[in-house]
Amino acid sequence: MMRAAVIGGGISGIASAYYLMQHNISVDLYESADRIGGRIGSERLGDRWLDFGGKNIGKNYRLFRDFVRDCGVSDFEYFGFNTSQVIDGRVVSINKEGARLFNVLRFLSLCGFNGIRKLYPPVRAILKDRRQGVLASEYFSLLAEQYDHLSLAEYLKGPCLRHIVRPVTVRMNGAEPDECYPGNFGSNLALLLDSYEQLQQGMHGMLEAFQLLAGSGLLRILSSHRVTSVSHDHEKGAIRIGYDYEGRSLSAVYDRVVSALPAHRLSDLLEPFYPEVSLLLRRIQYFPVAVAIVKYRRNVFPKAQRAMVFDDTFPLSNAGAYGINDLDLVRYTFSGRVARSIVSDQSRPEEVIALGEEIAGRYFTIKDNVRESFVFRYLSEGLCAYSPWHHRLLGEVDQKLVSFSGFAATGDYRRGASIEACFRAAGESVNKLIVGSGD
Ligand SMILES: Cc1cc2nc3c(=O)[nH]c(=O)nc-3n(C[C@H](O)[C@H](O)[C@H](O)COP(=O)(O)OP(=O)(O)OC[C@H]3O[C@@H](n4cnc5c(N)ncnc54)[C@H](O)[C@@H]3O)c2cc1C
Repeated sequence: MMRAAVIGGGISGIASAYYLMQHNISVDLYESADRIGGRIGSERLGDRWLDFGGKNIGKNYRLFRDFVRDCGVSDFEYFGFNTSQVIDGRVVSINKEGARLFNVLRFLSLCGFNGIRKLYPPVRAILKDRRQGVLASEYFSLLAEQYDHLSLAEYLKGPCLRHIVRPVTVRMNGAEPDECYPGNFGSNLALLLDSYEQLQQGMHGMLEAFQLLAGSGLLRILSSHRVTSVSHDHEKGAIRIGYDYEGRSLSAVYDRVVSALPAHRLSDLLEPFYPEVSLLLRRIQYFPVAVAIVKYRRNVFPKAQRAMVFDDTFPLSNAGAYGINDLDLVRYTFSGRVARSIVSDQSRPEEVIALGEEIAGRYFTIKDNVRESFVFRYLSEGLCAYSPWHHRLLGEVDQKLVSFSGFAATGDYRRGASIEACFRAAGESVNKLIVGSGD
């Protein structure tokens, strides 16, 4: 039986293992942390597991939904779309539970004429064919060829930039619009055109169910195994992986290897044998994000207004209710340029949370409320903002890795950072590796 290794136990690695097992291939999943999940990890708050990373699942997340169904945890609850922002001193809300026509008109007024003119063609392209809403799709590669000499801020100016694009890029890329490029915006637009649910048991329930697959005999989950090298074993005609486990340096040989690491972590591994690829991967941008989930004694939000985005003068990009009925549980997200200048891995969580409370407390019931407990995570490589002419960079990486037979690379930088895009990229990488075609 063919043996494969997957490096990285985040959602890209889990998806890769899942697709390899569908080909009846036995998989060793290497994860450096003591548990799998990566950026969809959870933390315990009281008797409940809370997701600090990816958790909102679009109605159009077809591949991810197939996967959770196979894991036996397909109960979703409505999360909806509910967001507000302050414009000229006034709170403006868009709420999916509200009147549809009213929301559409409000959205269009936030976009402005120039924004509608620029966004209409790509929106139409995605609505016509959802597969276009990812990195390096046909439509967005052509757009990149035309416009990626500009940043998104130069491409989409005016109210659309402030009210629609910036809230999206800080949330989905951790970046300001002047750090993003038009050709990559399709992967964000697709998310904007979706509506959301959450897994009833959270991502923690899904991860536990996935781990049960290890009982099938096809999957071994190797937590606390940090991969340190990957190279051809010419003698065996296979790929050798070096790894650290419990203070020892060990190695193993596989027929196939999939890297499901963020670009810079793969860059580290490829440096000795593929220095050019390593340099290319370094050109992909990652930005930090900090997330705090805080439980208060009383409700913070009214039901009709469950979230607010903040502009580029604040370190807090967003504060929102954790779930549709969790009005006493606030998820604060700190990302973007100002956040980077204030929040770091050295910051004390209490101080960061106090900052968020100061800002969001102007609009919600926080100041005279009691903070009961919290979880906090700082992710130094939290969100991927890709690179200009990203499709070309990916093409070059693939071209240079052709000689590394039996090896494939997937991750958030291939098709986009959403969980669905990670599944799509993983499926394509596995198909290419096993049947020689990415379709
Ligand atoms: C705050 C936040 C909110 C988000 N919200 C959403 C959302 O609501 N919906 C959505 O669709 N997406 C969301 N995303 C995006 C999505 O969660 C991520 O893009 C996705 O989880 C990335 O998964 P990955 O497997 O590619 O990378 P990672 O999760 O980073 O996985 C890589 C794994 O590799 C391991 N590793 C690193 N080096 C080594 C090594 N040398 N050896 C072995 N293992 C190694 C790491 O420990 C890690 O577990 C969010 C992301 C963040 C950060």
